[in-house]
Amino acid sequence: MNTEISSTQLIERDKKYVSPAIYRYTDIAFARGEGPFLYDFEGNRYYDFAAGIATMNVGHNHPRVVAAITEQAGILIHAAAHVGYMQPYVEILEKLISLAPMPIDQGKGILLNSGSEAVETAIKLARAVSGRSMLLAFLDSFHGRPMGALSLTASSSGYRKHLEPFLGGVEHVPYPNCYRCPFGHKNHSREDCCGTWRDFIQMTLDKLVHPDDLAAIIVEPIIGEGGYIVPPDDFLPTLREVCDRTGALLIADEVQTGMGRTGKWYGVENWNVAPDIIALGKAIGGGLPLGATLARADLMDAWWPAAHGSTFGGNPIACRAGLESIAIIAEEGLLENAVTVGDHIQTLFKAVQNELSIIGDVRGKGLMIGVELVNHQNQPVTVEQVKQIIKKLGKAGVVMTKCGQNALRIAPALSITCDMADEVVDIIIKVLKDFVKEF
Ligand code: PMP
Repeated sequence: MNTEISSTQLIERDKKYVSPAIYRYTDIAFARGEGPFLYDFEGNRYYDFAAGIATMNVGHNHPRVVAAITEQAGILIHAAAHVGYMQPYVEILEKLISLAPMPIDQGKGILLNSGSEAVETAIKLARAVSGRSMLLAFLDSFHGRPMGALSLTASSSGYRKHLEPFLGGVEHVPYPNCYRCPFGHKNHSREDCCGTWRDFIQMTLDKLVHPDDLAAIIVEPIIGEGGYIVPPDDFLPTLREVCDRTGALLIADEVQTGMGRTGKWYGVENWNVAPDIIALGKAIGGGLPLGATLARADLMDAWWPAAHGSTFGGNPIACRAGLESIAIIAEEGLLENAVTVGDHIQTLFKAVQNELSIIGDVRGKGLMIGVELVNHQNQPVTVEQVKQIIKKLGKAGVVMTKCGQNALRIAPALSITCDMADEVVDIIIKVLKDFVKEF
């Protein structure tokens, strides 16, 4: 690899060969990473508050992850789960299942290459074993971009533009977003949510989707890409009740909320809800491509041999990187750290909310924090304005993405310290103050 290249040269070559369908939030070329930092080809250092889109939970190039990858590359790179048995494949499923909430702590799983594939595996399993076809998903949710997962995704019509027809048998209902209530109720909080979403689900079951046809409800415990929206506390328990009442399966899409991001191994643990199926991706591969679908043992056992599979799914190197990351999260106390530093970050933003009115809402759990930006009328700032702010943050040394139309998406490594958070929040506040002057 040519290491003499400049960032500008790399970006020029990229523009020539890479499809413009890949949008870039920053104009930074990443030469290397270390812990919570990224470096460009000129040696400039950036705080990475995107973490590979909520993926590098133990930071970049953790020496233990590098050692595990290197060791496994010298043992076995690939053999394929369909051809025979591989130790890292079993070991990571054992681990993910042992950490899962009941009844999946006694369950079984399949390994894939991405979050989208894990979601598609979940809906295939739900349909196959229930013999039912209908899927209920939520507006604002993101479940992936391949056609099956995209049929469930409804965080932006931009992702769906010109792509009809989608998978049949999918209906969407509103997700409870108490700051910007989809039913138009003003000044409600998660604590005094209007609860209209509950009536909407019931109405959907009464008038549109017969309960006997409902295969599954799929839900993100906290909306990710769609805006880091934390639901009211009775939301997930109510979905569990609806599933119990109708015989439908509850699928938790934990691709973003899983692996410690919210301060728990699984996001649903924040509400003690027991899903029937869990989709995992992102951080479970320690930075390498890995997805997993876990389910109650009786559901997996009802799926017949050769019903599903993947050539690379459960690649031994990805499994080893994932296993090492899980061990690091446990041994370095990163779940607790995510809660401590996450609460600290929310407190810092809330403290300046009065003097900095562009900060409309600060929300999240652990190190999954959304800072919703608003104009003087408390309306969302435009997508273009958020993108401008993110570009300015990049120039100021902080790499970040957005979520929803108008929220800053704060998702750093779970190992960052409160001191580091202070430094980054100071930079963000300064950039926001400068931006407001031109507002
Ligand atoms: N589900 C959720 C909740 C996600 O956040 C994402 C990715 N942002 C996906 C599914 C799709 O994962 P991938 O990009 O790995 O296919």
